[in-house]
Amino acid sequence: MHRFFIEPQAIDGSRATLTGPEAHHLRNVLRLTAGDEIELFDGTGAVYQARIEHIGKAIELTIASRHTIAPREPALFIAQGLLKGKKMDFLVQKATELGVTGFLPFHSAHCAVPALKDAKTSRWEKITMEACKQCGRPIPLHLAAVSDLDSLLAAAEHYSGKLIFWEKETSTHLSGLAPLASYPSVIALIGPEGGFAAEEIDKAVQAGFIPVSLGRQILRAETAALSVMAILQYLSDNL
Ligand code: SAM
Repeated sequence: MHRFFIEPQAIDGSRATLTGPEAHHLRNVLRLTAGDEIELFDGTGAVYQARIEHIGKAIELTIASRHTIAPREPALFIAQGLLKGKKMDFLVQKATELGVTGFLPFHSAHCAVPALKDAKTSRWEKITMEACKQCGRPIPLHLAAVSDLDSLLAAAEHYSGKLIFWEKETSTHLSGLAPLASYPSVIALIGPEGGFAAEEIDKAVQAGFIPVSLGRQILRAETAALSVMAILQYLSDNL
């Protein structure tokens, strides 16, 4: 069944109106017709089964049923040092599919991406919305504005589990950590291609972060990030 995003305010009781790009996609690309049934999600966790009543510039719909999907727990936040090329696009898409709650891009000492190129969040918004439609996720990934590592560390008190992934760590591995499912929220920091500077690791430890190893091999940042998402979601019974 085709799935479309609808703003909550476009739903009025058992009636709904789809407009803009979503209406265009339904009408002109998918060429759906009156009587067809579709699924709507409004980004708050509510999911609707709806029937097309009229196709015009706007699409008039009748809501047949509604259910709400609660946000996942623990809430997992992936903080990723800015990466070159399309790697961040890839990670936004995978974080959406894997049920990560929030994605926090940051600038740090060894980022190869200059700060001025940070403003990609509008593209990332589109990517996560498309990924939500593809995978049936009802609440889009929370995409934070690009910040810097110091700001992230300063805000770390809001998270109960604080992990920083560091290739030089030798004793702490994910398998050794207390069951993550007991934490209400977890933040996991993964560095850029150039990794974390030694003083950044020190600052993170002072802010309560636990350095964690992903094994002896040095993984590409995108490999590390994808592995961390999948493993942490598995450990939290979210996969
Ligand atoms: N600066 C490192 C080097 O070349 O020696 C490479 C950094 S790696 C490409 C990018 C990020 O992936 C690191 O900052 C870390 O967060 C994560 N990472 C890669 N391999 C890891 C490992 N074996 N254990 C923990 N984290 C790892």
